[in-house]
Amino acid sequence: MTEDFYDVLGVSRDADEDDIKQAYREKASEYHPDVSDDPDAEEKFKKAKKAKEVLTDEEKRQAYDQMGHERFEQAEKRGGFDGGGGAGGARGNPFGGGGGGGFGDIFDQFFGGGGAGNQNRPRQGQDLRTSLQLDLEEAFEGVEREFTVTRPTRCDDCDGAGHPPDADAKTCTNCDGQGQVTQVQQTPLGRMQQRSTCRRCGGDGTLYSETCSTCNGDGQVREESTLSVDIPAGIRDGQTLRMEREGAPGPNGGPKGDLLIEVSVADHPEFDREGDDLHHQYPISFPQATFGDTVEVPTLDGTVEMDVPSGTQSGETFRLKGKGMPRLRRRGRGDLYVQVQVVTPDSLNSEQREALEQFAEAGGEEVDVNEGFFERIKSSF
Ligand SMILES: [Zn+2]
Ligand SMILES: [Zn+2]
Repeated sequence: MTEDFYDVLGVSRDADEDDIKQAYREKASEYHPDVSDDPDAEEKFKKAKKAKEVLTDEEKRQAYDQMGHERFEQAEKRGGFDGGGGAGGARGNPFGGGGGGGFGDIFDQFFGGGGAGNQNRPRQGQDLRTSLQLDLEEAFEGVEREFTVTRPTRCDDCDGAGHPPDADAKTCTNCDGQGQVTQVQQTPLGRMQQRSTCRRCGGDGTLYSETCSTCNGDGQVREESTLSVDIPAGIRDGQTLRMEREGAPGPNGGPKGDLLIEVSVADHPEFDREGDDLHHQYPISFPQATFGDTVEVPTLDGTVEMDVPSGTQSGETFRLKGKGMPRLRRRGRGDLYVQVQVVTPDSLNSEQREALEQFAEAGGEEVDVNEGFFERIKSSF
């Protein structure tokens, strides 16, 4: 299955930036995991986002058009141009001859040119995941929830650089300042070149006389933060909320990733949820079922009156329209289905017993009262 970025967004190949952004907004609202019932929504949302990112970046788009989808993705996987537009990144490599930047590097990778400093470009940080549990009432009302999350954060002491600002820098001798090393292998298909990040300098191309003692050179520290998220009314168990730019910091000054919050909604003792509908079981007596009655049924926002018609059978279900869960980010509510259960008494006082025996006789029934029943009656006195 082809996943051409133009097809993903449903735009033509000559669409301009505005068209692309507009198409993305439409896709994003259609597939936003908070909104869509489509089980693949999150995947589709990500694809649309990716497509927009590439097609609204002039250099990436040019590269994409020239290379085609597959080769572009391969190149990207190899670290070809993350954060491409940033050209050189927050701190360029003073020793690498290559000058950071454009899609030229992609071709270098394919056709064996020089290429340098890919690792130095700003890249978006990783998405992080966390989870929150709500009860059904909270899912019904919508709730603002505070939570703590321990996540990597840019190290303040070195500003994310991993070394003190005044540390001496020298070119990494292992990779000659390129940040990458090339290995040539003889394979049955011929000579293959494989490039990988230099282990000595971590792709920096530069070695420093000191590393930051706070972060041990990582440029990041793990930190606990308290965040607050607005959980919309009607959220379902298993849905994911996305807090943009609350994820891990991006390498080399790139933007943060997102924080994904998986919401689980606990079962409720009184109501079973099915989509936006609720199900509730309500006990009624034999006379109520026989003569009919108006009963007070609980809902998640107070009780409502429900008519039980005369001659109702045990197990019959009545629908209370619009008394279920709110529809997520839409108007209206689901329904409440009330299944009545006619409760058979397991003990009677003598008056009730007499009345019931007369009831049976009047209907021509002969009732041989079970001994166990008398025992229960005795014990209840
Ligand atoms: Zn190196
Ligand atoms: Zn540090």
